[in-house]
Amino acid sequence: MTHQAPSSQDIVTDLIHHGYEAPGGFAAPQPPVCKASTVFFPSVAAMRDFDWKDKSAYTYGLHGTPTSYLLEERIATLEGALQCLLVPSGLAAIATVSLSLLKQGDEVLIPDNAYGPNKALSEAELRRYGITHRYYDPLDPPDLEAKISPATRLIWLEAPGSVTLEFPDLLRLARICRERRITSVLDNTWGAGLAFSPFDLLRDGGSLGVDVSVHALTKYPSGGGDVLMGSITTRDQSLHMKLKLTHMRIGFGVGMNDVEAVLRSLPSMALRYHAHDRVARELARFMEQQPAVVQVLHPALAGSPGHDDWKRLCCTQENPDGAAAGLFSVIIDPRFTQEQVDRFCDGLRLFKIGYSWGGPISLVVPYELPDMRSLPSSGLKQGTVVRFSIGLEAARDLQADLAQALQLAFGR
Ligand SMILES: *Cc1c(COP(=O)(O)O)cnc(C)c1O
Repeated sequence: MTHQAPSSQDIVTDLIHHGYEAPGGFAAPQPPVCKASTVFFPSVAAMRDFDWKDKSAYTYGLHGTPTSYLLEERIATLEGALQCLLVPSGLAAIATVSLSLLKQGDEVLIPDNAYGPNKALSEAELRRYGITHRYYDPLDPPDLEAKISPATRLIWLEAPGSVTLEFPDLLRLARICRERRITSVLDNTWGAGLAFSPFDLLRDGGSLGVDVSVHALTKYPSGGGDVLMGSITTRDQSLHMKLKLTHMRIGFGVGMNDVEAVLRSLPSMALRYHAHDRVARELARFMEQQPAVVQVLHPALAGSPGHDDWKRLCCTQENPDGAAAGLFSVIIDPRFTQEQVDRFCDGLRLFKIGYSWGGPISLVVPYELPDMRSLPSSGLKQGTVVRFSIGLEAARDLQADLAQALQLAFGR
């Protein structure tokens, strides 16, 4: 412990160059929050030599601090990856990958049921930069194969699709990407590193996997509905460096208080994920019995589009029930009006109306599917889609809430 006497002529300087240093060796469960834009170098020579690219030193807050390095390592572990980059949102992760790996004249293939803003980015910025895109039917692997051209440089994958939750044959899609030697990137927000391993789809150490995985840490890793963050993970060092250089040049940094919030939530993530999953399945089955509902979309329910593919990827001998996150959607019978569907959503008391998911509070959003899709949606019935994100409330309270709102809007 040092406590130097003030040596300056003005207290203002002493408040900045203060001699006290807390003793090292402080041990506690949570890591410290190390915040910085500036970091100090011991000498000019060190300033010239220090390299942030391999995390062997610190050079500038944007390139990371001990706190963000720690979260990067933990997210890499969660995803079964070797490298991880943190970005300010899940969408920033998507944008970084597309901007890093595509150039003028290239084409990117995107599943038609992909996360909407991924499609919007392709239709605006990517198009403006001379990068074309095509949408493929994720439930029809030959459609993906047929759409690959000499210009195809990147293929997006998502399992299951956003909002409608159709589960693709991810093994076959990943195989097509490998065989055609096209970089594959999975939006792994739903699986979250828990439902299946994106770089080791066959659970044999990695004979089949995607090249890049992006994850909205905003959802389950944060778990609080109060943090925006994304990650980009890889096992491939050269891909990682390419992404990392773009990440550095774009200037995507993350706030260390947010990093700390995710570090604090990670240890309970698997417990929370399985709690969301259990109640979501229970309520999805309850909704299957409701006369106003013509279809329930939940990959773990027999009859939901892609159920067998979900089973093949997510169910194992040790875990025969598999893992399936906390989301499901229903399609309301088209004989009911939009106004009635709105009344149902507005009538829910525990379910709040709001985007995103992964927090403790259950959420509901109605969607107009025809506005969101370019191809005919195979396996989906006609009607308005309502998506539920199940929080951590008691199942019977949520079920009672659904029952009263169904009664209110549809007369049962
Ligand atoms: C929420 C979400 C994102 C984007 O995450 P943000 O942090 O909200 O930008 C990306 N992909 C999927 C599948 C998502 O659900």
